[in-house]
Amino acid sequence: MARFPETFIQQVLQSVDVVDLVGQYVALKRKGREFVGLCPFHEDSNPSMYVSPTKQIYKCFACGAGGNALQFVMNVEKLSFPEAVRTLADRQAIPLPKDTAQAPQTEGGVSKNDLAAVCEFAMTYFAAQLRQPAGKAALDYVHGRGMTDESIEAFGLGYAPDRWDSLIKAAAQKGIGEGQLVSAGLVRRRDSGGCYDYFRNRLMFPIHDTAGRVAGFGGRALSAEERAKYLNSPESALFDKSSMLYGLQFAREGIVRSRQAVVVEGYFDVLMPIQQGVGNVVATLGTALTDRHVRTLSRFAEEAVLVFDADVAGAAAAERALEIFLAQKLHVRVATIPAGKDPCDYALAEGDEALQRLIDQAPDALQYVWDQRYAAWQEAGGNPSQRQRLIEDFLQLIVNSASYGAIDGVRQQTLAQHIAHVLNASAIDLQQRMKALKRRITRRSGGGQSPVASARQAAFGPGAAAEREVLETLLDRPDLFDDVVERLDPDDFNDAMLRTLADRMWQLGHDGRLSIEELLGAEDLASLSGTLADMAMAGERRGNHEATIEAAVITLVSRRQRREVEQLKQQDLDDDENLRRLQERLSKGDVRKRPKIE
Ligand SMILES: [Zn+2]
Repeated sequence: MARFPETFIQQVLQSVDVVDLVGQYVALKRKGREFVGLCPFHEDSNPSMYVSPTKQIYKCFACGAGGNALQFVMNVEKLSFPEAVRTLADRQAIPLPKDTAQAPQTEGGVSKNDLAAVCEFAMTYFAAQLRQPAGKAALDYVHGRGMTDESIEAFGLGYAPDRWDSLIKAAAQKGIGEGQLVSAGLVRRRDSGGCYDYFRNRLMFPIHDTAGRVAGFGGRALSAEERAKYLNSPESALFDKSSMLYGLQFAREGIVRSRQAVVVEGYFDVLMPIQQGVGNVVATLGTALTDRHVRTLSRFAEEAVLVFDADVAGAAAAERALEIFLAQKLHVRVATIPAGKDPCDYALAEGDEALQRLIDQAPDALQYVWDQRYAAWQEAGGNPSQRQRLIEDFLQLIVNSASYGAIDGVRQQTLAQHIAHVLNASAIDLQQRMKALKRRITRRSGGGQSPVASARQAAFGPGAAAEREVLETLLDRPDLFDDVVERLDPDDFNDAMLRTLADRMWQLGHDGRLSIEELLGAEDLASLSGTLADMAMAGERRGNHEATIEAAVITLVSRRQRREVEQLKQQDLDDDENLRRLQERLSKGDVRKRPKIE
């Protein structure tokens, strides 16, 4: 496809606020003149992602990811450069230049944005069918579950007709071919040739990705004979069940505001609480909770509340979830809905306040696990020989949780005291045993941090530090370029990567266009975006720009002059006059003007 003109890329970039954009994926908090949040590109437990509103860049100081809005979209959505430009332009409602309007392709032939457009079309189509006579049973069913018409529209619910080709035909009228429908998981190919609609006679729930695009569907069977009560879209380039959460599109704001995510199991269990005013609820897509789900949640929430039906055997599920959540340092509690109800029914019958109370009063997961284990032990006859085992196992769980940094000392003490009290054991004894277990963990895990900073210093000499300082300062203060260009050339940079950057910066500088925005907008520099963002932020933070750049320029000029002197000496040319002049300058420390060797 045709490349986007640079002016267009700059237009798109100028319309986006990177803090807004990153904030869609990560909860950000202001810290000085920057914002910080958990980095979505590595398993981050301590906010390492910095976003600079003045520079319009982001940077993770743990994994090195960084760049501007374009690079963020490329990385978080796994898009190519032109796809990211297109996505941001769409988001900002900026029309594409005419000769570039056709969609960029991925290797599979259909881009993620194309898939999203097909799913968007299907959502509109299904929603219209729900209002047709054929959709009446589906509509009655949704009304029967207590959903209002406003909610049905807001959540994009729809109906897939009970036919083999209704979506295929409707799509054809819009110029959407079977191949695209197959890629989007809406249509299947027959072995005998031809295609058929994947979802038939089902109530349809559109599922959005974190970018807010329709990525797939969940379909609930309306006929009792149907074997699969729930059917999800198959995995596609856009639809990834093991990391996506149903309802995040609607609940994100509520989660960020409350710093809490409520995790349920069914589609209606998400929608009904939202309709009732409890707005921070999401569900997994018919799969068990994975660490990737939890990583998604940990970007927005500090705490998760898992809601289990009372009739579901909760302890094992809670223990599994506990481990995943603790590994991500997300606090987790477990709420139980009274027997015979699911969260949807409960919210409808008892109201949002009752549901909220249930969530607020939920015990933390460790307490929940203990209660379940203790109840099971009692039910099995309260055998004293098993009592020791019960205690030992649970102390181990507490110590493991503490080793993740997930629960603090006070909480550990409280839990130990609680067990001591319930089992009539010695609290001091339990604490001693916990200490012993802890020592074992500490010995195993070793300790010490990798001295990144000092390794970095060792890898580069003082001249290299000056090379970085010049470019870093220029990225923050392009107005100092004129002062630098008189004395330095890109050739003065020994580091190959820095020389590449300097080359481009000098070109832009001569054109009067030197800026971090221009550099980050250059497609061929995309692989350096993390470094560029890093350097721009370093420049901004260092401050004291004039003095920094002056010292760095002097270091580099002196280095060049010393080298020139060495070269002249080695060449052993009859150039005594030049040599004398150079040495004279060096001894005076006069490096403000570039010495010319005629
Ligand atoms: Zn990171």
